[in-house]
Amino acid sequence: DNLEQKVSERTRQLEIVNEEKSELVSRLKKISNSDALTQLFNRRYFNALMKFHQKKPPKQLSLAIIDIDHFKKINDSYGHDTGDHVLKVVAKIMSQWATSRDTLVRYGGEEFVVVGQNTPASQVNEKLSRLVELVETHDWSKISLDSAITISIGCAHYPDANWTELFECADKALYRAKTSGRNQLQVHQNPSPSPRGGSSVIKC
Ligand code: GH3
Ligand code: MG
Ligand code: MG
Repeated sequence: DNLEQKVSERTRQLEIVNEEKSELVSRLKKISNSDALTQLFNRRYFNALMKFHQKKPPKQLSLAIIDIDHFKKINDSYGHDTGDHVLKVVAKIMSQWATSRDTLVRYGGEEFVVVGQNTPASQVNEKLSRLVELVETHDWSKISLDSAITISIGCAHYPDANWTELFECADKALYRAKTSGRNQLQVHQNPSPSPRGGSSVIKC
């Protein structure tokens, strides 16, 4: 009858409102976890991800810090908008390069992080070297640059490196990449154990 009709109509309306609400919540979640310029994950998401893994670290995890070389010069020579464009193109190259096992993060400024899981370290290293090459060989004249953009990468692998020092180890490797001529990958290596046995503390 009339009342029943009204109740079912009202129920339908409420269902629609609820659907809209959950859609809005998931859209907000996506926005709060992603970087507006590149659409990659942001640092907040990265921190949450690492905190999640910290409770029970996965068997294997690789952490690579990627930093665009001489990016300040790009801004200075071509302007901030072109700088932003370069960031977007690098993010796109990374997205096309990555597999479902990689999490791509814009960590800040011209720095990116790739978190890779359950891939042998040697394979990750090969893949990262390929990324260095992909960026260098990209046709940068398409966005009116006179020379190629290059990146430096520092990488550390868990459990090769301690969990708590993982980021620090990758950052030190990145520093080595920067001071060894840029446009290259450097991987954190454990110092080989001293011949007399010595300390077993893992250092970066
Ligand atoms: P290096 O090879 O040693 O990494 O040199 P670099 O010039 O890349 O490094 P530096 O840290 O000196 O400069 C980073 C620059 O990135 C400075 C800053 O103005 C610029 N930058 C940071 N965030 C953004 C952004 O969102 N857009 C643009 N266009 N520039 C940015
Ligand atoms: Mg930097
Ligand atoms: Mg840089």
